[in-house]
Amino acid sequence: MGSESRTLGVLKETFPGETRVALSPEVAKKFAKDAKVLIERGAGVSASFPDEEYAAAGAELVDRAAVLKNADVLMTVRPPALEDVARLKPGATLVGLLDPSRNKPLLDALAAQGVSAYAMELLPRTTRAQVMDALSSQANLAGYRAVIEAAAVYGRAMPMMTTAAGTITPARVFVMGAGVAGLQAIATARRLGAVVTATDVRPAAKEQVQSLGAKFVAVEDEEFAAAEAAGGYAKQMSAEYQAKQAALISEHIKKQDMVITTALIPGRPAPRLVTAAQVASMRPGSVLVDLAVEQGGNIEGVKADEILTTPGGVQVVGYANLPGRVAVDASTLYARNLLAFVQHLVAQTAAEGGGAEDDILKASNVVRAGAVVFASAA
Ligand code: NAD
Repeated sequence: MGSESRTLGVLKETFPGETRVALSPEVAKKFAKDAKVLIERGAGVSASFPDEEYAAAGAELVDRAAVLKNADVLMTVRPPALEDVARLKPGATLVGLLDPSRNKPLLDALAAQGVSAYAMELLPRTTRAQVMDALSSQANLAGYRAVIEAAAVYGRAMPMMTTAAGTITPARVFVMGAGVAGLQAIATARRLGAVVTATDVRPAAKEQVQSLGAKFVAVEDEEFAAAEAAGGYAKQMSAEYQAKQAALISEHIKKQDMVITTALIPGRPAPRLVTAAQVASMRPGSVLVDLAVEQGGNIEGVKADEILTTPGGVQVVGYANLPGRVAVDASTLYARNLLAFVQHLVAQTAAEGGGAEDDILKASNVVRAGAVVFASAA
């Protein structure tokens, strides 16, 4: 991948409902300084980036086949379809949110095609990788948008309002999972005037929740004190802990107007945090939003891309792609993450050793030189 001859490619996303694009005109301009940039016509339209803006930034607008055939580095949001992989240039590099733990057929196809691949969701959560951290950039927007979606279907106002006709009480919002998305949901709900509580299984989350002005709710026993796994991620909790936590949460949920769930454990199905009985215990008009719906959901009965209304008048919102509902900002931030990653990739591969010892590349590389190097694909 010599920098003089490097061609970068970006496709229009084809995953149903995907509105984001892997390149913004702003980032296209930066890439175009020392590389050829090919983008499929219309790729940015659903993120409000017209073709002309890419052209003005120095990118070439071409058809899909030309992107696939010529790209040395192909950048995507979602994993490409298998028929696209079969048209990629052997020796090319793919970079995107490839969902490798659930995508063995894709990884095998990439290996067979002689394409190397890097999965953006596998980047280490280190200071050096922060600028490339697509999980964080997208989760921030998802957390924000979850509260906006909840507010939009909620039949009441969120802040306390004192009017001549009397006072409206503020909404009570409970955020389950206080990682990047959850913390942004807390901040957003607080800005809208809600009274916010939150829970997490990682003890480190408690202080972060409190620093945003929310109250922390959790069973704080010995297991909780030791619950943080390597890399700052959550561990799978024991059945006993989950039962104790469920009892505490049941009492709490009954009194909430909104519940936002964001709990994930990397490479595993999302933990079930809210049962149908807990949903039924909430008052009519209450709203739940499940950010983990693409990983199976935290809320029993949640349906991807639907808003369910229970017989008791509680709404369960299951939008699968919340970052895609803030497509301009989500694409802008994701494109900047990719710019930082690809610059790092190019610099490392040009250096002595070809980046073999680089922690960022080692963690995210899933296919190399015709072989799948990611162990936990299913
Ligand atoms: P995530 O998306 O994997 O999970 C979301 C949250 O759900 C996490 O806080 C997790 O602890 C929580 N969770 C899991 N099971 C739960 C359960 N049963 N009940 C309640 N909550 C549960 O997490 P994330 O947002 O990607 O963040 C993971 C960690 O990485 C955090 O510690 C975060 O601060 C850290 N982080 C560090 C950096 C950096 O230093 N560069 C960047 C981003 C995130």
